Amino acid sequence: MTLYSTMENVAVFDSPGKGRGLKASKEFWAGDVIFTEPSVSAVVFDGHSERICHSCFRRQDKLQRCGQCKFAHYCDRTCQRAGWAEHKQECSAIKAYGKAPNENIRLVARIMWRIDKEGSVMSDMQLVTLDELEDHLNDMTEDELKEFKVDIHNFLDYWPRNSKQHTVEYIFHIFGVINCNGFSVSDQRGLQAVGVGLFPNLCLVNHDCWPNCTVILNHGNQSAVNTIFHSQRRIELRSLGKIEAGEELTVSYVDYLNLSEERQRLLKTQYFFDCTCEHCKGRIKDDLKMAGREVDGVKPSEDQVKEATDFCFEMLEKMENARISGNYHELVKICQNTVDKTEPILADTHIYLLRMYSTLSEVQAYLQHFEDAAEYARKMVDGYMKLYHPNNAALGMAAMRAGVTHWQAGLIEVGHGMICKAYAILMVTHGATHPITKDLEAMRIQTEMELRMFKQNEYVYHSMREAALKNKPMTMMHEPKSVEEGIKNLFHRRK
Ligand SMILES: [Zn+2]
Ligand SMILES: [Zn+2]
Ligand SMILES: [Zn+2]
Repeated sequence: MTLYSTMENVAVFDSPGKGRGLKASKEFWAGDVIFTEPSVSAVVFDGHSERICHSCFRRQDKLQRCGQCKFAHYCDRTCQRAGWAEHKQECSAIKAYGKAPNENIRLVARIMWRIDKEGSVMSDMQLVTLDELEDHLNDMTEDELKEFKVDIHNFLDYWPRNSKQHTVEYIFHIFGVINCNGFSVSDQRGLQAVGVGLFPNLCLVNHDCWPNCTVILNHGNQSAVNTIFHSQRRIELRSLGKIEAGEELTVSYVDYLNLSEERQRLLKTQYFFDCTCEHCKGRIKDDLKMAGREVDGVKPSEDQVKEATDFCFEMLEKMENARISGNYHELVKICQNTVDKTEPILADTHIYLLRMYSTLSEVQAYLQHFEDAAEYARKMVDGYMKLYHPNNAALGMAAMRAGVTHWQAGLIEVGHGMICKAYAILMVTHGATHPITKDLEAMRIQTEMELRMFKQNEYVYHSMREAALKNKPMTMMHEPKSVEEGIKNLFHRRK
């Protein structure tokens, strides 16, 4: 099997100032898969347990419930069978405990059952044992440790008497490991984080705010029943550009659309290290992210920019409340008002303004105001292009949203262009077999055909488009929730 050979692509080494890291053993190019890795284990979040299959992490409206514990849900018998090895002990533990414990406890228990069965090295592809992974228990605050103790107390109640007993130190260690290394697992389309899993080799890849790799979850071919690809949660480490042999491999743990100071704060509090990457040291692009808009060579004053920035910040909080309460019309109103007020002063790369654009395009599309949605999505992409790495996955997803909303608004030329752009990025970041890339491929072909028709005969195009919209709305829109959270944060954080 090829998995073993992919681990020959990398080597563990001592990265100066960072501790252990991974480096490339050979040269790579944009879109190369450097390695793939199945999860040691993963669980569906508490809040998604009835909507997401516990085996393949697919979102489905109708799932079948495990008749025994009444907690686990599956697409069908095939998924249930595929997930049974992971669920068997959990199933009886949940029954005995009377309810399902929280996601952290469930994940730790699943990992422990697996360690008990197979030892802490589960395959010869694994470059590091679970015992060796960082737990950062010594870096934690008293409050954090207090929360841990509550979880561990509940874990001990949940853990069956007839399973192997472990020391409290060891249980603490595994809780610490998933706290700083638990990877956000998305649904099959990669649009929302729906669970958390552990991928030990991935934990060896250090952070850089401007990384040379990206990591993507690929749920594989779910229709290939009874093959090794079925319901295997695998991550792929993919190269974003040319990487020389011997170069350190890095991914970004946080979203680049934060100021360097904020990124450093997040990294320090969540991952316990001081980022000294080139972008942090040089505060690269910080100026663009907080810039004022220059019109005919005239810039707004610093005070004006500060005032507009503060106003946006205040409104972002109000927007979050409106979003949580599902009041989307109110959300649009606040957003629209903020954009009207601050757009003349803030640059198109100002990160708060970009958040306004992002929210507006998302919510307007949901409310089926496609022209507005398209306009803001295009502004969002324009700003993102000046800030993000050209192969950044979030940029690709934004271009996809812009493409879809333009198509929905009947703006076929820009729509097709955006979809092609998104497709080119996702071929690098997600690869050709990822469901979302396949969707984009279909959209690319569809919009290309429509564009040709549009150029030949606009009238025919419009009547055909209307029919197409009625029959099969091309859509990628969920309820507007903090969709981006799941995409932009690599590791899952405890709440
Ligand atoms: Zn399933
Ligand atoms: Zn069960
Ligand atoms: Zn940095």
